[in-house]
Amino acid sequence: MPQKIAAGNWKMNGTLEAVPEAGAIAAASGAVETILCPPATLIGPLTLAAQGTDLRIGGQSCHPAASGAHTGDISAAMLADAGATYCITGHSERRADHGESDDDVRAQTEAAWAAGLRAILCIGETLEQREAGETLDVLTAQLEGSLPGGATEENTIIAYEPVWAIGTGKVASPDQVAEVHDALRDHVGPEMSLLYGGSVKAGNAAELFALTNVDGALVGGASLKAADFVPIVEALA
Ligand code: PEP
Repeated sequence: MPQKIAAGNWKMNGTLEAVPEAGAIAAASGAVETILCPPATLIGPLTLAAQGTDLRIGGQSCHPAASGAHTGDISAAMLADAGATYCITGHSERRADHGESDDDVRAQTEAAWAAGLRAILCIGETLEQREAGETLDVLTAQLEGSLPGGATEENTIIAYEPVWAIGTGKVASPDQVAEVHDALRDHVGPEMSLLYGGSVKAGNAAELFALTNVDGALVGGASLKAADFVPIVEALA
């Protein structure tokens, strides 16, 4: 059985004032694997807040190299050193804002593994690609291009995040999610966790989690406040 996982992506949100939210989320974690991926500045503080609980902390991206002349970047080893045990790779905002290609994502995922981090590898189609009927082809190409050989359920989680559903309030329909997740299941085998991401909220989580091949969610906006995120975690438990 794939592990059930509720992961929160805080994106570029949060200062030290947000640490108590993580504390409240930590108190509710345990029944399913619960992860928060804050900005890099909060990995240390959130790791401290999560100490003695089942909440796990992750980075949002990492450079493929372990160290070196890469101003403004952060390596997987640094994330691990600060307390992370997970790292998101291939998020569509990184692909769009920083031009990260499938090759880059594969190298980052390998770097995450080398640092002992479990990767949450994101793939997703744009609205234009969906409307052109290219969704499954695009996702297959992204997966084949960015998922390194050697991926297992222990070192990798796949997150399907349709770009048009991220931060837009437009959640993919259960039929759309089921079609993609069933195809992904055929691709990655029976044990790897498959998360859906894109405007997941307490009000739509249960319907998505009821789908056979949806093992959890990667949540953006609704992971910032414990009052929003904890009900999502509970819907998965
Ligand atoms: C995300 O950024 O991974 C995401 C799914 O965002 P939101 O839940 O806000 O759509």
